[in-house]
Amino acid sequence: MEYQDLGVAPIVSAQANSTPLGGCTLSDGVIMAMGNAARFHVDMDQLWRAAGRFLAEATGSEDACPVIGAAAGMAIAVAACVAGTDAPRIQRLPDPGDRPNEIVLQKGHSITYGGAPITQMIALGGGRTVEVGAVNETLRSQVAGAINSRTAALVYVASHTHAVHRRQLSLDEMVAIGREHGVPVIVDAAGESDLRSWVASGADLVIYSGPKMLGAPTSGFVCGAGELVAACRAQYAGIARPMKVGKENLLGLLQAVREYTAVTEEERAAEQAVRMAKLADRLDKLPGLSAGVALCDSGRLIYRVLLTVDPASAGLSAAGLAEEMTAGVPSIHLRDFKLHLGQLEVDPRALSPEGEEAVVRRLEEVLSGHSGARTGAEAAR
Ligand SMILES: *Cc1c(COP(=O)(O)O)cnc(C)c1O
Repeated sequence: MEYQDLGVAPIVSAQANSTPLGGCTLSDGVIMAMGNAARFHVDMDQLWRAAGRFLAEATGSEDACPVIGAAAGMAIAVAACVAGTDAPRIQRLPDPGDRPNEIVLQKGHSITYGGAPITQMIALGGGRTVEVGAVNETLRSQVAGAINSRTAALVYVASHTHAVHRRQLSLDEMVAIGREHGVPVIVDAAGESDLRSWVASGADLVIYSGPKMLGAPTSGFVCGAGELVAACRAQYAGIARPMKVGKENLLGLLQAVREYTAVTEEERAAEQAVRMAKLADRLDKLPGLSAGVALCDSGRLIYRVLLTVDPASAGLSAAGLAEEMTAGVPSIHLRDFKLHLGQLEVDPRALSPEGEEAVVRRLEEVLSGHSGARTGAEAAR
């Protein structure tokens, strides 16, 4: 079975890896690991624990529990904080019974992913979200003041793209408050590139998504303190059962982490900077477009091509250009975080060399079509 048998055409993502655009593409090594894993039966409990030890080593944590994605990881981490390893409590979730189940979340971190609210994942795990502060300001006293005998955990969302961080508490502050009150801190680091710093910060549980940065198939993991990770694993006899990750994806995840950690972030960024500089030079020559390389505003080591559209000479706006690129063949998704500034970006992380060529070819076609049509119309006048 292939995509074309279903009438579904592959697309080009110049937006980094996102779940709605099919996660990531896999290396030959990862594909091979998944294929080999699929050929055998294996004791899943033994495999889970061994995988946990491998991921713990890679992240500098005590233990880790594989999950099917970061959203599942949030539900499972919350369930672990609510029900622990107690079988009757695990089986009763998402009803928390008499257990503390309030989850304190800063307003600026109350995100959705692909439409699904983080508060819903918390509810699946038996938690009840207590949002504190405002989107543009949350105070330490508001977080600390929300903690009481019903509190099960604090949640911190590390995302640079989804969450607000300005005038919200830092992770260090959340960890200090958690320590002071004896409440665990869960970090959603779904799309983060650093596998060690979030755990090293003192968070109790840290959640990663496999496809976002790590080059893994649909998967993820929760890592952190041994006792809480054991409680995460225990949830597979409860709410985690419909979210289980199979042996093929699990071996794909481990191989991807092995490949990911073999290259440093600086090496990866340097390679991307060279590719994006070459691409920017080519795109800068197109009518109506100026292109240059820009480092990510968040300070992360991500070099992108920043495209500024001049609607007068391009014959269409940045929004119009983005729309035509998505509607074309192949459908190309440019990063649109700066659309309100009349700018689009090409993100290198999900883009293959063939994808790059498609970006150049389609931008050339669309822009020459529009500027050409305009010149033609002018000439006819
Ligand atoms: C993408 C994302 C998720 C969901 O990850 P999945 O692996 O697709 O479940 C959760 N949190 C954040 C911050 C994300 O960016």
